[in-house]
Amino acid sequence: MVDAACCGPSGPCPLCQHPAARVHSRYWRHIAGLPASGRQMVVCLRVRWFFCDQSRSRSRTYVEQVAGLTERRLRTSTAAGRR
Ligand SMILES: [Zn+2]
Repeated sequence: MVDAACCGPSGPCPLCQHPAARVHSRYWRHIAGLPASGRQMVVCLRVRWFFCDQSRSRSRTYVEQVAGLTERRLRTSTAAGRR
């Protein structure tokens, strides 16, 4: 089990690329299926939901994306989907 948290600056909105000013909520997300050293690894990742305040944007809220671990519209990890 690996704990990870996103604590950098807010990620930009995927639709309008505008940085979010407000955090909607945070939650823990468990991502399985990343084999490490022959063992099944579970990543416990804290991700954030953001509000998008841009009126032109169709995305009212969106979830933070972590490169290599999460991918938009996929519930499972990208690594697991490619096996
Ligand atoms: Zn937006």
